[in-house]
Amino acid sequence: MNEVVRALRTIRGQWAALLLAIETPPADHWPPRQLAHTMRQGDDEQLVEDRAPLVLREHPAPLNLAALDTGRAVERLIFDLADTLAAAVQRTEPGDPRAWECADPSAPDSHRAAGSRRHGLHWACVWVEGRVLDEDTAPERELDGALAPPPFEVLPLHLLHEARRTVRIAEARVLRALGLDRRETPLPEPCPWCGDELTLHSAPDGPPSVTCSGGRECTAPAPLNSRERARVWEWDDLPELIAALGVDFTTAV
Ligand SMILES: [Zn+2]
Repeated sequence: MNEVVRALRTIRGQWAALLLAIETPPADHWPPRQLAHTMRQGDDEQLVEDRAPLVLREHPAPLNLAALDTGRAVERLIFDLADTLAAAVQRTEPGDPRAWECADPSAPDSHRAAGSRRHGLHWACVWVEGRVLDEDTAPERELDGALAPPPFEVLPLHLLHEARRTVRIAEARVLRALGLDRRETPLPEPCPWCGDELTLHSAPDGPPSVTCSGGRECTAPAPLNSRERARVWEWDDLPELIAALGVDFTTAV
């Protein structure tokens, strides 16, 4: 898949988790947020429905200021990118729902002043994806049969580079804020089966896993890794490890 499209979809896919993180006290990366969310799916579903941009929301008492800063910075990056791309390639007729409306600070009410930003980050990511994929760049047949000029021009190469740079920065910020960037974190508790050290492995392109350095000596009911030096709990097995460790998921997010 196109690298920019993949990063845009990661941002959209993790956005609900970031919104939830803003309303949650900062936590260690253990247990993994994704797993806690899987076990509390109702919360995420509600948040996905709530797509108002952070810039238009009240945050009377955010519990995680770092996550809020990240969210606002990522919105700014993507919204500004959409402004830039629209200025360069958008040729839509008035009233076309595919148009990106730039913010207009002189508008009489805050929603109109926000332009398309009022639809939130999801929509902005989808719109940018359309430009990166050169969607709607062919002439369109109108009702009277005449050909109308395309609503968008093909994105020039320098703006494709600009989009790639901006989107990757935004993606990295979201993943870092959620502890999903590539990292290895020693867990506070030792292995319940052998007492050796446990390590959490997280990466942006997949779910986290945990390894025990006890390897063959460890009696845990988890497979050995390919070099047989460590026991590995992949995503599906993590609940079993967490149960053995006695971690309370109802408070840990
Ligand atoms: Zn072990």
